[in-house]
Amino acid sequence: GAVLDERGEASLDASFMSGKDLNAGAIAGVKKIKNPILAAYSVMKNTPQVLLISEGADQFAIEQGLDTVDNSYFITERRRTQLLKNKSLSQIKNKKELLSTVSKFGTVGCVALDKNGNLSAGTSTGGRSNKKWGRVGDVPIIGAGNYANNNTCAISATGWGEFFIRNVVAHDISSLIEYKNLNIKEATKISLDKVKKLGGSGGVIALDKFGNYAMEFNTKGMYRGVKDSKGNFKVSIFKSD
Ligand code: ASP
Repeated sequence: GAVLDERGEASLDASFMSGKDLNAGAIAGVKKIKNPILAAYSVMKNTPQVLLISEGADQFAIEQGLDTVDNSYFITERRRTQLLKNKSLSQIKNKKELLSTVSKFGTVGCVALDKNGNLSAGTSTGGRSNKKWGRVGDVPIIGAGNYANNNTCAISATGWGEFFIRNVVAHDISSLIEYKNLNIKEATKISLDKVKKLGGSGGVIALDKFGNYAMEFNTKGMYRGVKDSKGNFKVSIFKSD
């Protein structure tokens, strides 16, 4: 399932970036592509473009032979109820109250480092529940919700997308490493603090070229997991986990 926009439809954004050559692909506002991340990957691999949107992106996926589905495929009972709650809460003038009452996020991200030192990042989302028709978040914006560079790190973000766009968070973290020589934990913390200062919230999963990782967030929790090549793995939700 995916979170639903104000019209009760799922409109999906996704992006993929390869740190080896800074190649990237993204799609935004698609309605029919079953696995949006595959379409983002195909944009990167098979076209000179970086970002395709709405019907053009849906059509591209069909041409690439990717699976398509009816929009209702993404609509679950849980997301419909969430939309109804968010719609009634949007009458509330106090934005803080609105934010603390209902979670509106639903993004999946992944960062990886292979044995050849190649970093990559993928991010996929339905965006924010009750989002405006036509709204695009940070996820398909390279450098905001997604970034990978073999010289620095790979980043995938989740949270209130507008703040991640305005702070160019994923690229900001990479730049803090590149220009200030900060480690991955320091860099993610600084960048997320800037988001918080502007009134935004969210988190990132981050992996540097040495395999050090950070999973920082300024929300109550963030579903997250990490696995290394020796088979060690860990999954967590809250800060204290
Ligand atoms: N960042 C996404 C957006 O604003 C939402 C999320 O992370 O759940 O579109």
